[in-house]
Amino acid sequence: MKAAVFHGVEEPLQIEDVEEPTAEEDQIIVETEACGICRSDWHAWKGDWSWIGVMPTDGLVFGHEPAGTVVEVGDNVERFREGDQVTVPFNLSDGTCHHCRNGRGNICEQVVPLGFLKMAPGAFAERFPVRKADHNAIKLPENVDPVDVAALGCRFATAFHGLAHRVDINPGDWVAVHGLGGVGLSAVHIAEALGANVIGIDIIDEKLDKAEELGADETLNANDVKDVPQAVKQFTESSRGVDISVDALGVAETCQNSVNSLGKGGQHLQIGLTTSEEGGNVSLPVDNIVMDERDFKGSFGMPPNQYQEIFRMMDRGKIDPGKIVTETVSLEEVPDVIESMGDYDTVGIPVCNEF
Ligand SMILES: [Zn+2]
Ligand SMILES: [Zn+2]
Repeated sequence: MKAAVFHGVEEPLQIEDVEEPTAEEDQIIVETEACGICRSDWHAWKGDWSWIGVMPTDGLVFGHEPAGTVVEVGDNVERFREGDQVTVPFNLSDGTCHHCRNGRGNICEQVVPLGFLKMAPGAFAERFPVRKADHNAIKLPENVDPVDVAALGCRFATAFHGLAHRVDINPGDWVAVHGLGGVGLSAVHIAEALGANVIGIDIIDEKLDKAEELGADETLNANDVKDVPQAVKQFTESSRGVDISVDALGVAETCQNSVNSLGKGGQHLQIGLTTSEEGGNVSLPVDNIVMDERDFKGSFGMPPNQYQEIFRMMDRGKIDPGKIVTETVSLEEVPDVIESMGDYDTVGIPVCNEF
């Protein structure tokens, strides 16, 4: 079968024939119908994230935002049948550890990220296996377009879990979103649906326009102002600062701008993982965080048991992940799209839907 295969840091991914996967006892094999192309693919391709144990090796198949149809079911799998339409979170869990049993599979002790390590080959391929399928795979509602829900594997789900579960969001809260890539735009759309007043911040006007289309009440081009946190605060009453601020990019500047946009008692939500530049470390105004009682929250993917919340909101038209999808491409185009993500000029989420 055809797949997009990694052969080394910054070497173009190759479209090659690779061996067909077969289902081990606890696995399902999914025929890929759509898979989002994420900035995380670009990070891994650049060789970032060795400091958190992500080191793609020669022969790895990328792709971690899939939707598709079950074509083979392992002997011990109970919840799935051939023909079921499914998605999976990128952070595949074991279903048995302390966190999994407490409904936090996204931070499983034995988490294996899909499409980043060879033991879980990814979905830029005609078919891919899902480990511990009963625990990880999620049946899609009827009549959804796989392209629309591709980002439920990573960006849309990460933004949803972060805003709906990691921070305490209240109606009318001011929420700032720093960085309007796929996850940032998802965060704008979700925060608006959860009743917040939303400020979108980026340096590219097309992304600000897209954020407005998705419900941002205010937008700010960070290149137009000297002091981004101050400019963000000016949108709030008496410039008190925002209640929740999201770093949806993961560079020192957006992380610090986000923390500094907060008012007293504010909550910072870190969604973006950092780049080689930061190597996982960003300096922060700790004393101000203490005196203002601000929170710094991390958020990583979404536990499988929370997906029904998204589906119920989709069913009633309150959120629509398809609105973030801006482009569909073929498998052959995936390597170029990943390479171009370093330019930060992709607006919304590109999805591969031709395998
Ligand atoms: Zn991703
Ligand atoms: Zn676990």
